[in-house]
Amino acid sequence: MVKICCIGAGYVGGPTMAVIALKCPSIEVAVVDISVSRINAWNSDQLPIYEPGLDDVVKQCRGKNLFFSTEVEKHVSEADIVFVSVNTPTKTRGLGAGKAADLTYWESAARMIADVKGINFQILSNPEFLAEGTAIPDLFNPDRVLIGGRETPEGQKAIEALKDVYSHWVPEERILCTNLWSAELSKLAANAFLAQRISSVNAMSALCEATGADVTEVSYAVGKDTRIGPKFLNASVGFGGSCFQKDILNLVYICECNGLPEVAEYWKQVIKINDYQKSRFVNRIVSSMFNTVSNKKVAILGFAFKKDTGDTRETPAIDVCKGLLGDNARVSIYDPQVTEDQIQRDLTMNKFDWDHPLHLQPMSPTAVKQVSVVWDAYTATKDAHGVCILTEWDEFKTLDYQRIYDNMQKPAFIFDGRNIVNVDKLREIGFIVYSIGKPLDAWLKDMPAVA
Ligand code: ADP
Repeated sequence: MVKICCIGAGYVGGPTMAVIALKCPSIEVAVVDISVSRINAWNSDQLPIYEPGLDDVVKQCRGKNLFFSTEVEKHVSEADIVFVSVNTPTKTRGLGAGKAADLTYWESAARMIADVKGINFQILSNPEFLAEGTAIPDLFNPDRVLIGGRETPEGQKAIEALKDVYSHWVPEERILCTNLWSAELSKLAANAFLAQRISSVNAMSALCEATGADVTEVSYAVGKDTRIGPKFLNASVGFGGSCFQKDILNLVYICECNGLPEVAEYWKQVIKINDYQKSRFVNRIVSSMFNTVSNKKVAILGFAFKKDTGDTRETPAIDVCKGLLGDNARVSIYDPQVTEDQIQRDLTMNKFDWDHPLHLQPMSPTAVKQVSVVWDAYTATKDAHGVCILTEWDEFKTLDYQRIYDNMQKPAFIFDGRNIVNVDKLREIGFIVYSIGKPLDAWLKDMPAVA
């Protein structure tokens, strides 16, 4: 029986290993982590991450050929294949701070493996491409699996061993084998291309607002070109998640280190537009509401960086809330999957500190007093002057907006950062609506230009 050990029981390691265990009953999979609370959660009914379909997969395999444990060394020493899926945050200090990947956790895992297994092993690069919110279907039916290894007989043998694991359910032609640098750069390039599409359509959204075009019509027309395709062309308040920004910053750093400042500058712009989009959104809110939100209640619907996940890493909601708090607003936040603790931690943490393990972070940051976290959309919006939709949760499409309107201060504003509401219907009810990249309300047109 082949034994696999995965170091790091996070968003990547957990779901990936659960699916490997499900699809390969002949393989024993142990997922290990230094965080006791995380491992306890994986062994309980309340998994540490929310991912549709994950509970089911874990229930089917846990205790049979899928185990979660804190006995890191034991499982590593027994394993034939070791996956390392620990966090690689952006460096916050020293050489490459704010850009380069911090390999501290990766290095400590590698040193530990060398200690318990000796140095006789091959290193492969097997980047993941799963999208949070759809991780399980993505893993069941991946567009491709990428395995990079050395071009030596031992390297090729290692590639084959890993290929055998994925071949249990992934068609042969979707398993791509490359050299190490190709695999590493493909991962960064894929995320950079995806993020670049979002920044491109978001850049267009600003021009649409200025000219009277409708970004939904523009992106539909653009996406009909089969060379471009329709996916990933929705304008929004900006992209988030643990990967896009981190991978682009890393790409930028690698370009700079290789003497390619023009290439670095090109990719940096993708992040700049994303930051611009978030601050443009905040400026639009403040300028619409008579240029001040001081002491006004603003409801925030959605805090996760996308729907169907409780993950808040790099979510645009953090920047939008911080922007509103900076203007002295009172914000009332509702998200179906994010806890108050997490929100308070996110709003008190410094940029780039989020990806350092929780057990190393101060556990009781001073709560932000102007923030309240509530458990339904109607409480969040009661007596509010404005509502911001920051995550595209399905339930926000079917709220009783008449009821929300009746319980709000007037004029009642809605700022839709995900373009999910029916603008005409809301205007009929009486809302002043801002929807990204759409023709502006007469009201908004009269307000001072947004920087
Ligand atoms: P990702 O989204 O990449 O999966 P996460 O932060 O969700 O990232 O998960 C990374 C996990 O790796 C964390 O649970 C962390 O505790 C764990 N980890 C970090 N360093 C080590 C290590 N040296 N040994 C075991 N687990 C580690």
